[in-house]
Amino acid sequence: GGSVWEVDCKILGASGDRLVSLYDLSERVSVAKSHADFVANASHELRTPLANVVGYVETLMNPKAGGNEELRTRFLGTIRHEAQRMQSLISDLMSLSRIEAVKHEVPSENVDLVQLAREVAAEFRDSAALDLTTNCDSAVIAGDRGQLLQVLRNLIDNALKYGKPGGPVHVSVEAARTGWVLVMVRDEGEGIAPEHLPRVTERFYRADTSRSRAAGGTGLGLSIVKHIVERHRGRFDIESRPGSGATASLMLPLREN
Ligand code: ADP
Repeated sequence: GGSVWEVDCKILGASGDRLVSLYDLSERVSVAKSHADFVANASHELRTPLANVVGYVETLMNPKAGGNEELRTRFLGTIRHEAQRMQSLISDLMSLSRIEAVKHEVPSENVDLVQLAREVAAEFRDSAALDLTTNCDSAVIAGDRGQLLQVLRNLIDNALKYGKPGGPVHVSVEAARTGWVLVMVRDEGEGIAPEHLPRVTERFYRADTSRSRAAGGTGLGLSIVKHIVERHRGRFDIESRPGSGATASLMLPLREN
């Protein structure tokens, strides 16, 4: 895009000389624009389920329709579903703002990613066929434990939502001599088409909107992951061969001993 300039002109003292300063505001303007887009998107995402709730409640309040027991049960189910959608959205928005608030603080807890992955794998054990492979007993990084838990949960959640129902999901943690640890979450689902792949970490971006919504997605999961990984000075990447699944991987620097 073009640049946005601010011109500042000061008259200096009695001499009357002028000091003209030029400031390039394009960065600030584009931040402001993306902030406005974000607020607009978030409002839109909330407005849709809210409008549905209002609509269904109004119908239920109508004595004719509201008296039908079967209809009542069905509508209440929809209202709950829409309310839960708003809950997930708000909880993801709050996560994003918490991450944003601490983004300049360097995370400093000792977090063992092998142990963390075992913990998260155990959470999903009953609901999915999930296997965990590691090449070491521990891989300690300087991190924010809560945020890293969220990364693993989001990635495994996606692998289950968009992979084959019930799994399998393959998780691996590999420490390398290079001083990095590689964590991968792979599924065997439909994968992501190449035209969508570069955009899936954008806020609210969905490759398949109806599928994501039906699965309870907010479109924020991967942008949360990306933010957290960046805060840890790591790299996040997602690859996919359509038809044979997707692999999300993160590289994080091991704590120096
Ligand atoms: P959502 O809340 O919609 O799941 P995410 O930010 O987690 O949002 O993911 C963005 C989009 O990327 C999803 O809507 C989905 O279309 C796609 N996606 C993410 N993970 C996978 C996966 N493992 N397989 C296929 N598509 C995926």
